[in-house]
Amino acid sequence: MTPVKSIYELSIEELKAFLNANNLSPDLSSTIFRNLYKKNKHEQPISKKIMSLLGKNFSLTLPKIALVSKSDDGTVKFLMEFNDGKSVETVLIPFHKRFTVCLSSQVGCAMKCSFCYTGTMGLSRHLKSSEIIGQFIVAANYLEEELGMKTMQPNIVFMGQGEPLHNSDEVLKAIEVMMEPLGLCMGPRQMTLSTAGYLPGIKKLNNFPKINIALSLHSPFNDIRKELIPINQHFPLEDIFRELDGLDLMKRQFIVYEYLLIDGLNDRLEDANELEKLLGDRKAAINIIPFNPFPGSKYKRPSEEKVELFKEMLVERKLRTMIRTTKGSDILAACGQLKS
Ligand code: SF4
Repeated sequence: MTPVKSIYELSIEELKAFLNANNLSPDLSSTIFRNLYKKNKHEQPISKKIMSLLGKNFSLTLPKIALVSKSDDGTVKFLMEFNDGKSVETVLIPFHKRFTVCLSSQVGCAMKCSFCYTGTMGLSRHLKSSEIIGQFIVAANYLEEELGMKTMQPNIVFMGQGEPLHNSDEVLKAIEVMMEPLGLCMGPRQMTLSTAGYLPGIKKLNNFPKINIALSLHSPFNDIRKELIPINQHFPLEDIFRELDGLDLMKRQFIVYEYLLIDGLNDRLEDANELEKLLGDRKAAINIIPFNPFPGSKYKRPSEEKVELFKEMLVERKLRTMIRTTKGSDILAACGQLKS
């Protein structure tokens, strides 16, 4: 029978404890970790005896790539399949000379945001930390082996399928394992977690390493936000901001507010005025994302002129604002377009 627990779920301390319990030196954990996570040809390989012990106790498999779609702009979308046959989408997004990998945290999503393709699926299940880490390893290997990109390790955004804070324990565990210096050695500022405003999860954020935080704001008005993000009826903006204001941010750290710009809905003068009231005195950066349509979506993408005009309104109000370039929309890999 295949073991249920994955080797990729283990922190280095857990691996040491396992080795200890099997009368082996805990020092072997460094070799095992480096073999699992770093692809250094000079690394001393794991002996057959240890491999067989690990294989009897843990699953050593990574997600399988079931499908790859490539966009004209260099974005690559994977359909990754897990041992139980469930799958998620993972996206590699080029940005200057580096890639960012957008990881999924759940199969489907329970939040049902009205602008999001994933939201139409409902929640199938949470991903385990090993499945989150597995997506990263498979995407990074593809980058190196198939695209010949031996550049810097990709950055990570938790913005794929699922609400990461609805699965906060597994996401936190994945982050901690990915930060292990002997393994992937990711820095906290190389990772961004985006939440739709799931309050019970936001309350746990102070237990996380100091990764970048993004909130899907999309409207400064509760009534409009509720239409876009139904959980806003349980967790309104006042409650979310009370928690965000209590976060222990680093000196130059801003919270990024994602603002999906939808034609005629949230691109008005009154939206800009209210955003100024809401964010003017906070450590905030606004990321405007022009809406990406998907099959059956009821919203319209604003024209480039309207997007630029809205940005100018915010900049005039001294709000730090960027427009996020859409990547991968031709293969339904852009924000809000993922579905397995
Ligand atoms: S936008 Fe995020 S939180 Fe909302 S339904 Fe889509 S995946 Fe879930």
